[in-house]
Amino acid sequence: QHPVPHATLEAVVEKVQGSVAAHAPEPYANLDDYRAAGGYRLLEACRRGERELESVLATLEDAGLRGLGGAGFPAGRKWRLVRQQPGPRLMAVNIDEGEPGTFKDRHYLERDPHRFLEGALIAAWAVGVEAIYIYLRDEYHGCRALLEAELERLHAAPPAGGLPTIELRRGAGAYICGEESAMIESIEGKRGMPRLRPPYVAQVGLFGRPTLEHNFETLYWVRDLVERGPQWFAGQGRHGRKGLRSFSVSGRVAKPGVHLAPAGITLRELVDEYCGGMLPGHELYAYLPGGASGGILPARLADVPLDFDTLQPHGCFIGSAAVMVLSQHDRATDAARNLMHFFAEESCGQCTPCRSGTAKIEELIATDRWNTGLIAELSQVMRDASICGLGQAASNPVDCVINYFPQELQP
Ligand code: SF4
Repeated sequence: QHPVPHATLEAVVEKVQGSVAAHAPEPYANLDDYRAAGGYRLLEACRRGERELESVLATLEDAGLRGLGGAGFPAGRKWRLVRQQPGPRLMAVNIDEGEPGTFKDRHYLERDPHRFLEGALIAAWAVGVEAIYIYLRDEYHGCRALLEAELERLHAAPPAGGLPTIELRRGAGAYICGEESAMIESIEGKRGMPRLRPPYVAQVGLFGRPTLEHNFETLYWVRDLVERGPQWFAGQGRHGRKGLRSFSVSGRVAKPGVHLAPAGITLRELVDEYCGGMLPGHELYAYLPGGASGGILPARLADVPLDFDTLQPHGCFIGSAAVMVLSQHDRATDAARNLMHFFAEESCGQCTPCRSGTAKIEELIATDRWNTGLIAELSQVMRDASICGLGQAASNPVDCVINYFPQELQP
């Protein structure tokens, strides 16, 4: 290895910084803008006792706010559970956003960071949290610069009642660190590997303390929910569902991006009403309703409501609402191969069904002639015996190809 001349290193750093600057967020609502629009008044009202804890918790429950990182655990119930645990209690916020196709957290963070920070501080007040650890995806350079700058401003002019300890931690690019217990291991400075449960993170989490763990977006909605009332949120669902969902839409649509739409909207409605329809020359062939592991559905199932619990009968789930749209120019088998390669790469390797299962399925689907019986058996073992969601759901896209796209496979 030749030593890199200092001048060259400087040039590289300058180039990287230039490209980071080029990707810096659009103008966003900074602390002054946010305060001017009434920001942090709700937090201060809570702290002064003008808002009762019970009414805030009831609002979250009545609105039906659920964890928006993918698991969908009811937020109000989680706050109550952690609050019942002995102190000191901590909080961990997941902005790792590593799920392929998901970019909603970044979208909101780049525009309105204090709405999230106020939500986190209200949660900290409600649960009695001493310190907040924010785990940010390292690839989000612009977000980190923005968050650092705004946290500095907030520390210089804190809301009445001050601030708990807030630490901003950088992830290092491992997909598995989006899993809550692996993220906690990573924040503790260890290798990011999921923990066996029980005990749950709410009981024994970060540094052995009861921990409130939330996805960024869940906290982002707290202020609006409490200020506007639970009906504002709950009243917006469709097809019998409640609330709003931020869909990260990519693929063959005219307008990809983050679309805030009613929970329970169907894929067909989402594409037609929010995404400007399909791209010219493309017809809907298939879609992934929930990122890498949420499965793949054919166009004939484009009228199923997209929400927590509604896709299970079809062997899929919504996860973090990353919707990828495929057309007649794509193949479900190609998507499944790509995803299985991703899972095999990202498996933390801790348990055999996932470590060996993902690698084995990748081999088994390398051509279009699949041993479907063997794949189904292996997939069941992974589902039953893997420690965490990665291994349990990794074979979903492959199972979907077998169920819904047999025409792509050779007999
Ligand atoms: Fe690690 Fe996979 Fe086991 Fe999860 S299922 S703990 S990612 S080896």
